[in-house]
Amino acid sequence: MDKIPVAVLGATGAVGQRFVQLLADHPWFEITSLTGSERSVGGVYRQVCRWVLDEDIPAEIGDLVVSPSNTDLPAKIVFSALPSRVAKQVEPVMAEAGYTVCSNAAAHRQDQDVPLIIPEVNGEHLELLEQQRKNRKWQGLIVTSPNCTATGLVMPLKALDQAFGVAQVFVTTLQAVSGAGYPGVPYLDIIDNIIPNIPGEAEKIQEETRLLLGHIEAGQRVPANIEMSVQTNRVPVIDGHTVNMAIKFDRRPTPEEASEVLAGFRGPNPIPNLPSAPSAPILVRRELNRPQPRRDRDASAGMSVTVGSIRPCPILDLRMISVVHNTLRGAASGSILNAELLVANGII
Ligand code: NAP
Repeated sequence: MDKIPVAVLGATGAVGQRFVQLLADHPWFEITSLTGSERSVGGVYRQVCRWVLDEDIPAEIGDLVVSPSNTDLPAKIVFSALPSRVAKQVEPVMAEAGYTVCSNAAAHRQDQDVPLIIPEVNGEHLELLEQQRKNRKWQGLIVTSPNCTATGLVMPLKALDQAFGVAQVFVTTLQAVSGAGYPGVPYLDIIDNIIPNIPGEAEKIQEETRLLLGHIEAGQRVPANIEMSVQTNRVPVIDGHTVNMAIKFDRRPTPEEASEVLAGFRGPNPIPNLPSAPSAPILVRRELNRPQPRRDRDASAGMSVTVGSIRPCPILDLRMISVVHNTLRGAASGSILNAELLVANGII
């Protein structure tokens, strides 16, 4: 098939660069435009982008001139890696003009008629698009992907909730510096240090977890009834968020039963066959000292969440630790998988 033309909004940032890397040889999508702020508009991408990835900038894409984020972009899908305050204004304008917006920003995740999707977890929430079409009368649409840390929490919780019912979760996060974007946290603040209470993060993790694990009733999102307590920390790791969790279940599993359920978790068809889908969305490590961000974040090209240290909890039922790659599964790759699901469902 002819490749679908796509644009990346906010292509010079931490997440935007991942989109550029991943879309350079995507089998279905082809980058036609890249956007940035006034700082970079009009410049050649390779010159204005402060590229931080180990791989070089893909040759032809590096030669593109950075555009403003407007409705002149020659694209069908726009992947948004804009700051939330910018996305709030720009994304609805793009959707109204007919673009399919796959967004990483928090701006519209809480809107009742905007699907917040991890394909393996709640792909069926795409049915909200019917409400979106009725309410907004847009030619295009907006679909969002969740907060990067919520992704590392929700994927194991989904598997466990289906099998045993999750009632309460106590969460402590250890989040990488790339989660704060570029240039991110000043070196002198983060090196040899841990910074607690990332602003707004605990609230996003709680609200989005309940939405992702919830269901749709009469066209409305009904959040899951799970009690949560979340504390967040920024740590001196480049990529990969770690989530420490203790969980209370409706039916208490043994660590072995929980491990089996996690390792066997698969998304419904057609998700496992989409180009960016990993063969196993959750990998279970048995070693006591895993998962670790440096060693586990790139599992399945950064698309699998790795869970380990699954053991009894003396207060709740079980404890475990997950690692998710925040700019891949937690951002750009997750959003590309959403777009692939839209194509597979005939929505694009
Ligand atoms: P970032 O590194 O700060 O990048 C922001 C991007 O937006 C840059 O390309 C910047 O362009 C562009 N931009 C800024 N102001 C703009 C404007 N007024 N008009 C057009 N473009 C503008 O941020 P990030 O970490 O990539 O995050 C991008 C989005 O993804 C955010 O909403 C964030 O919350 C979300 N997210 C991030 C992560 C993560 O791990 N980092 C994970 C999940 C979701 P210039 O370089 O030209 O200024």
